[in-house]
Amino acid sequence: MNAPFPSTASGNDPRPPLQLLIAAPRGFCAGVDRAIEIVERALQKYGAPVYVRHEIVHNRYVVDSLKAKGAIFVEELDEVPNDAPVVFSAHGVPKSVPAEAERRKLLYVDATCPLVSKVHRQAERQIEKGQHILFIGHEGHPEVIGTMGQVPDGQITLVETVEDVATLPFTQEDDLSFLTQTTLSVDDTREIVEALQAKYPQIVAPKAEDICYATSNRQAAVKEIASGCDLVLVIGAPNSSNSLRLVEVAQRMGTDARLIQRASEIEPKWLEGVGTLGLTAGASAPEKLVREVVDRLSDWRVVTEEVITTTEEKMVFKLPRQLTE
Ligand code: SF4
Repeated sequence: MNAPFPSTASGNDPRPPLQLLIAAPRGFCAGVDRAIEIVERALQKYGAPVYVRHEIVHNRYVVDSLKAKGAIFVEELDEVPNDAPVVFSAHGVPKSVPAEAERRKLLYVDATCPLVSKVHRQAERQIEKGQHILFIGHEGHPEVIGTMGQVPDGQITLVETVEDVATLPFTQEDDLSFLTQTTLSVDDTREIVEALQAKYPQIVAPKAEDICYATSNRQAAVKEIASGCDLVLVIGAPNSSNSLRLVEVAQRMGTDARLIQRASEIEPKWLEGVGTLGLTAGASAPEKLVREVVDRLSDWRVVTEEVITTTEEKMVFKLPRQLTE
C-alpha cells in the first residue's frame, strides 16, 4: 500500500524537491512497546525510583524519557539498593541475574521480550536432550550474554560468521543443535546455517525461526525501498543490533546508507545529488524521531513523502501479571 502525501510548499519555493520513501514496518516492535510500558507501569505502581538493569531498549531518547520519569539505569544488580524495584531489559538476562535478585529478595520485573524468552526455553530443552548448542549471534550483545547464560558453561558455543564454522572442533558424531539471536541479518544467518548443516548434517534446527518477526519485517521493508533510493537513513543506536542490520541490508542492495540517532546528525552535504531518500527506523526507535527527521529534511528540501508498506504488524505481548493485578 503506497500512501503519497503532497508537499505543502508553493510553486516558487527555492528548495529543491526530495522524494522520501518511508519503509513500513519500521520503528517500535511489540517487545519494545511492552518493555517501555513495563517501566512506566512499575513507576506508577511502586513509585520512583525504579531501577532498570541495562538500557531497557537500545535508544537514548527512550532511556532519557524514562530517566525523566524516575527510572535509574544501572549495569549490574549490585548497584540496586535492597529496597528498590528493578526491571530487567527487553534483551533478556542470564539465569544468574534473577537468581541473584531472589537471593537478595529484590522486587524484580522481567521485561525480557517473549520472543527472546522463547529462545531461552528452546536452549533449555536442547540441553535436556543432551545436545551441544551452536549459538549464532554477536559477541557481547546483551541478548547473547542472556541466552548463553541460560545453559551451563561449556554446553553452548558462539558462532559469529561462516568462517567460524570452519574452525568448530565438533564431529558428525556429536549431538548438536543451533539457535540464533533474534535480531540478526536474515541473509547472513541463512549462510551460516547452511555452512553448519553442510559440516554437520545431523545438527538439529530450532522448531521455528529464532529471528523475530520485527527484525525480518524491517529488513524486508528496507530491501523493498533501497534499490530505488540514492541514500537510506536508518534511525537507531550504534549498539542496536537490528538497526545496524538495516544499514547493512540497504548497503548490500548497492545503496549508500547511514545510521543516525537524531535528526540533528544529518549533514546537508549528505543530500547533495540525492533525489530519492529512503527512511526507516530500528525496532527501538520511536516514531517521533522519524517525524523529527522529516521536519529536518524539510528545512532544506520540498519533501514528498511516500510510505511503502510491505506488511502489516498486529503483534501485541501481554504485560507481566504483577503489573496488571
Ligand atoms: S526486536 Fe524482536 S526480539 Fe527484540 S524486542 Fe522486538 S520483537 Fe522482541
